[in-house]
Amino acid sequence: MQHTFSRRRLLAGATALSLGAGIVSSVHRPRSVSAGSGLNVIATTGQVADAVRGIAGDLVSVAAIMGPGVDPHTYTPSQGDIERLSNADAILYSGLELEGRFDEVFESLESEKTIVAVAESIPPEQLVASPQYPDQFDPHVWFDPAIWDFAIAAAAAALVEADPDNAATYEANATIYRDQVRAFDAYATQVLGTVAPERRVLVTAHDAFNYFGRRYGFEVVGIQGISTETEAGVNDLQMVAQLIADRQIPAIFVESSVSGSTIEAVQAAVRDRGFEVVIGGQLYSDAMGDEGTPEGTYVGMFTANVNTIATSLGGSLTPATPLPATPAVATPLS
Ligand code: ZN
Repeated sequence: MQHTFSRRRLLAGATALSLGAGIVSSVHRPRSVSAGSGLNVIATTGQVADAVRGIAGDLVSVAAIMGPGVDPHTYTPSQGDIERLSNADAILYSGLELEGRFDEVFESLESEKTIVAVAESIPPEQLVASPQYPDQFDPHVWFDPAIWDFAIAAAAAALVEADPDNAATYEANATIYRDQVRAFDAYATQVLGTVAPERRVLVTAHDAFNYFGRRYGFEVVGIQGISTETEAGVNDLQMVAQLIADRQIPAIFVESSVSGSTIEAVQAAVRDRGFEVVIGGQLYSDAMGDEGTPEGTYVGMFTANVNTIATSLGGSLTPATPLPATPAVATPLS
């Protein structure tokens, strides 16, 4: 599979929105807009849909194709999905080959509507290469809020382009949403910083946490590789089990969108080596939690991950500095 950077139109997320351009007052008041824009936006993943919701509020109807527990690497759009995509005014997806099976439908629609890969607005030098596919980048960029910020800005720019009449509202909301993500990032840094340095090892089924590891100083061991389409080899599994036993890592993690069998096999292999590792809980990797729950939002699911990782590895949820209010659910202007 080839890179798609040049194939689809990308928006320069970083420059499209000028932060702090004097649009937003510190008081978060609803704007008097008589009705929604009528814009119908379809996002692929929950993370992208959450950004659109935060930026657009009630102005836009937004739906995610992939709900809780769905694996974007292997998800093939159904006939119904293709109809929804065809009927949308704009399509926002994550990109960097995350939703590899959507390529064909996006190509067939790209001349008709705004289609934006929000993560492909991140400067390449801030991306991590895929260990499996040397000509590709690791697509799990939402786990570094500092670079996901570019994706949020790109989503805002896409909405502004599709509906320029409401540009000021989208830009104001985007600033609020980006601030919430920054506040979360500060929270995560504090809480994860309470894990002892020798325990900052995150073992998961697939390699979704490389950006997380880079951002928060964790060594990351994914057994299955970047995409769930690659199978875990027996050797990989035994090597990971040996590492866990040697370093006495207390917990490993299952993911909501990946079968738990690989992690359970690792746990058994660690036990064969005379060490007990617990399954520290379920992390949200590529899919978010149920809609209407805190984990159904970007900040909420990420907060749940941070809390699960920190407590399972011996950290604390009560760092010295007061924490921002969590989970920060966007209450956008509309
Ligand atoms: Zn993944």
